[in-house]
Amino acid sequence: MPSHNKLKSRAAANVVSNIQIATNIYEMVLHHDDVSRATQPGQFINLYCNGKATLLPRPISICETQSDYGTMKIVYAVVGAGTEEFSQRQPGDTVDILGPLGHGYDMHEGVKEHIIVGGGLGIPPLLELTKRLIGKKKVVLGFRDETFLVDAFKHYADELYVATNDGSVGEQGTVIDILERHHIRGDMLYSCGPKAMLEEVQPWCIQHEIEGQISMEERMGCGFGACVGCVTKVKNQETEQWEYKKICSDGPIFYAKEVVFDV
Ligand SMILES: Cc1cc2nc3c(=O)[nH]c(=O)nc-3n(C[C@H](O)[C@H](O)[C@H](O)COP(=O)(O)OP(=O)(O)OC[C@H]3O[C@@H](n4cnc5c(N)ncnc54)[C@H](O)[C@@H]3O)c2cc1C
Repeated sequence: MPSHNKLKSRAAANVVSNIQIATNIYEMVLHHDDVSRATQPGQFINLYCNGKATLLPRPISICETQSDYGTMKIVYAVVGAGTEEFSQRQPGDTVDILGPLGHGYDMHEGVKEHIIVGGGLGIPPLLELTKRLIGKKKVVLGFRDETFLVDAFKHYADELYVATNDGSVGEQGTVIDILERHHIRGDMLYSCGPKAMLEEVQPWCIQHEIEGQISMEERMGCGFGACVGCVTKVKNQETEQWEYKKICSDGPIFYAKEVVFDV
């Protein structure tokens, strides 16, 4: 993956809005000109907490940027003290951020058909990607039950498939069921979602000889490669040797064929 990283410093961003869009899920728009302009799809920011939560910042993917306005949107679930604190932020507040961090998705020129596969809280970073990709865009979104961001994807997707585990919205099944049911094929697949989903997406790409890029949103510490708290095992495609890479700075996007999930 090409490096989009330069040395970053912590900066204050203004909260433009922060609204609940589904059960326990919030959409926050932040204003910070430089970060908004520099962001590549698939990158994330670290958000710092003021209150009871620990010193470590929380990594959240950038869902969409509006660089003309210097704003960026994040979509996050409240799962603990840090995200609970973020959900309390009001328009006009400031929040300290660091970013954009990590490597975004590679957007190769000449790719004609793109398959974009997201699951749950892995869906947000795929919105900016879908917006920027050029070519035919087939988007598959998988949710447990309640959906979010579907209308936003409708603006940019050529084909949009929605699946829920229980079939309450869209089709019943997993994203792999949808890929197979609709015989979805393309030149490049981009994915982000829970590990269990990525573990199925990876062999699907290999089986169908489709190049895949997947985002590993694992737990991490510093977010910029210093603490080595988020290493993952990958297979170097040239040497065939296993290597350890930092998800925060070497990723979070890796090619599907290089990721090893069994560690
Ligand atoms: C690169 C990256 C991008 C991310 N993007 C998003 C995003 O766009 N939207 C979003 O809602 N979340 C995202 N996450 C996950 C988010 O960082 C965590 O949910 C958040 O840090 C939890 O902080 P907390 O203090 O609220 O919860 P904590 O008290 O730290 O944890 C509460 C619970 O959440 C679990 N948890 C914490 N971090 C993760 C994680 N990375 N993956 C799975 N489970 C976790 C913990 O195991 C625990 O059960 C991303 C993570 C990474 C690494």
